[in-house]
Amino acid sequence: MNDILPADETLWTFFEQTARSMLRAYGYRQIRTPIIEHTNLFSRGIGEVTDIVEKEMYSFTDSLNGENLTLRPENTAAVVRAALEHNLLYDGPKRLWYIGPMFRHERPQRGRYRQFHQVGVEALGLAGPDADVEIILMCQRLWDDLGLTGIRLELNSLGQASERAAHRQDLIAYLEKHSAILDDDAKRRLHTNPLRVLDTKNPALQEMAKGAPRLIDYLGDASREHFDGVQRLLKANNIPFTINPRLVRGLDYYNLTVFEWVTDKLGAQGTVAGGGRYDPLIEQLGGKATPACGWAMGVERILELLREDDLVPQDEGCDVYIVHQGEAALSPALVAAERLRDVGLDVIFHCSADGKGSSFKSQLKRADASGAAFAVILGDNEVAQQQAVVKHLRSSDQQDNQVGVAFDQLTDYLIDAMVASADA
Ligand code: ATP
Ligand code: MG
Repeated sequence: MNDILPADETLWTFFEQTARSMLRAYGYRQIRTPIIEHTNLFSRGIGEVTDIVEKEMYSFTDSLNGENLTLRPENTAAVVRAALEHNLLYDGPKRLWYIGPMFRHERPQRGRYRQFHQVGVEALGLAGPDADVEIILMCQRLWDDLGLTGIRLELNSLGQASERAAHRQDLIAYLEKHSAILDDDAKRRLHTNPLRVLDTKNPALQEMAKGAPRLIDYLGDASREHFDGVQRLLKANNIPFTINPRLVRGLDYYNLTVFEWVTDKLGAQGTVAGGGRYDPLIEQLGGKATPACGWAMGVERILELLREDDLVPQDEGCDVYIVHQGEAALSPALVAAERLRDVGLDVIFHCSADGKGSSFKSQLKRADASGAAFAVILGDNEVAQQQAVVKHLRSSDQQDNQVGVAFDQLTDYLIDAMVASADA
C-alpha cells in the first residue's frame, strides 16, 4: 500500500480532471459507495473460484457483531448492490462511474499493489453492442485526452452460459489430457472453473492454454451476432482491435463481450483497463434481470504510463507569496492575503517556523522555492507609506523586477500582472 505524496499531486489531478471531463462527455454520473461490503457480495458476485475471491480479499470479522466484511477488491458488485438498494433503475438505464481505492492481497511488484485505485464505469440496463462499443470508445477518448499512445484493444466473446457449458465439456477433456503439467491452481480449477485455467499467469501453461478448445468456436447465432455488431461498430469508429480467444478475465460475472486495453511499456503488468458485459450479475444479486456492461482501469498503471511517456504536467506554484517583517506589518499582511484570495488568487502567507519571524532574505528564498509568481513584501517602511513591494519572481530581469504598489491598488495590480504573465 502506498502513500501518495504532494510531489504526485499534479499528476493525479491531471488524470482525475481529464477522466471526469471525458465521463461528463458521455453523460455518466458519479456514484460513491463504501469501501467495505459484506463478504458474500463479492463471493456471490465475482465468483468463488477466482483469484480475487480465493486468495486476494482482505476479509475480517466485525468484532462487534460477528459480520463477515471485506475491503472491496473491485467495485462492480458494490455499484450493482447500491443500484438495487436505492432502486436506481426504476426509471430506465443508468450510466454510472466511480473512482477510489480497491484492495487485493497480491504479491506487490511494479504496477501491482495491495491498495490501488480504479476508475470505472457501469452502464446498467443497456443490452446492445452499441453500449459495449460506447464504453470502449470512452477509453480511447481518455487515452487521446491524456496524450497516451500505443495502448491496444484485445477483444473476445464469452457467449452465454449454455454455450460455455458445451465448451466446458471439451475443455475439461483437453485439460485432463494435459493433467501432468497442470499446476495446483489449474488442477483445482479443472472441474470447478476450467475457463479460469486459460487465464493462467503461469508461463509453463501458456502453450497448453493456446491449444485449448476456443470458446469463440462454440458461440450460437445470437452471441455471434452481438460480437459481429461490436466489431462492426468499432471498425466504423476506426478503433483497431485484435481478437484474443484466450481472454476470459478474472471475474465470473462476464458474458458476451470482454475486452482489455494493453500496453507493452509496463512489463508484466501491461493491462491498464479491462471490462465487458455482465448481463447475469444484476439478477444474480437479487434484482430483475437487467443487461449491463462496464470497465475498470488501474489508475497507478496509467500514471506510470504518463511518466513513461513524459506526459507529467508541470507543477504550477501558487500566485503570491506574502513576505512580512515586524509587528506593524503582521496584521496588514494577513489582511492583504485574504483580500487577494477574495479575488481568486492563490496565496501563501509566510509563517516562521519558530513563531518569532524570519529575515527578509530567508522568506524570499522560501517564496522562490514555493514556485509563486509574485512576492508581496511588507515591512515597517511599507506600512508607514501604505504600500507594498511587489516582486516578480519569475521575471528574468533582475534589475527591474520590483515595484511599490499602494495597499488599495494591490489586488488590481496583481490581477493585471497575473493576466499579463499568463499571456506572455
Ligand atoms: P491482472 O490480470 O493484472 O491481475 P485483473 O484482471 O485482476 O488484472 P481487473 O480486476 O480487471 O484486473 O481490474 C482492472 C484493472 O485494475 C486492471 O487492468 C489493472 O490495470 C488494475 N489492477 C488490478 N489489480 C491491480 C493491482 N493489484 N495493483 C494495481 N492495479 C491493479
Ligand atoms: Mg488480478
